[in-house]
Amino acid sequence: MADELDVEAMMALLPKRSTAEDFAEIMAARQRAQDAPPAELTIIPMPEYRKPLSGVACYPCALGCGWVHEEDASTWQLGPVVFRPEDPDSLARSLTENAERRGAELRERIESAIREHFTAAHPGLDIPTRSAW
Ligand SMILES: [Zn+2]
Repeated sequence: MADELDVEAMMALLPKRSTAEDFAEIMAARQRAQDAPPAELTIIPMPEYRKPLSGVACYPCALGCGWVHEEDASTWQLGPVVFRPEDPDSLARSLTENAERRGAELRERIESAIREHFTAAHPGLDIPTRSAW
C-alpha cells in the first residue's frame, strides 16, 4: 500500500549514533541531574480535597493533630484585568500578573495560618517541610 509507512526506510534516514555517543549523552544527563539546584522546601502540606466539588482545599497539620486550614477557591478575587488593543500581549501579561499575585497571597495566607497554629498548639516544635516539587 502506497500510504503505508516504510519504517525500515525511515530508520535508515536517521543519523547513526555510536555506543560512545549514547554513553556520553547518558553521562551528561546524569551530570545535569547532579548539578541541579536542591529542591525548594515548603511548610505547606499537600492539599486534601475532603469536600468533593466544593472548591475547598484542606491543608492539615503535618503532625496529624486534626487541625486543618481550609482555602475556598470560590472566594478568590481576580484583580483588574487589563487589555489594551494597541498592546495585544497586555491581556496575557495581566492574567499572569494576577495569577502570580494570587499565588503569592495564597502561599502567605497558608504559611501564616500554619505558623500561628504551631505557635499555639505545638510551641517549640519545628514545622515539618517537604519538597515543593
Ligand atoms: Zn497541629
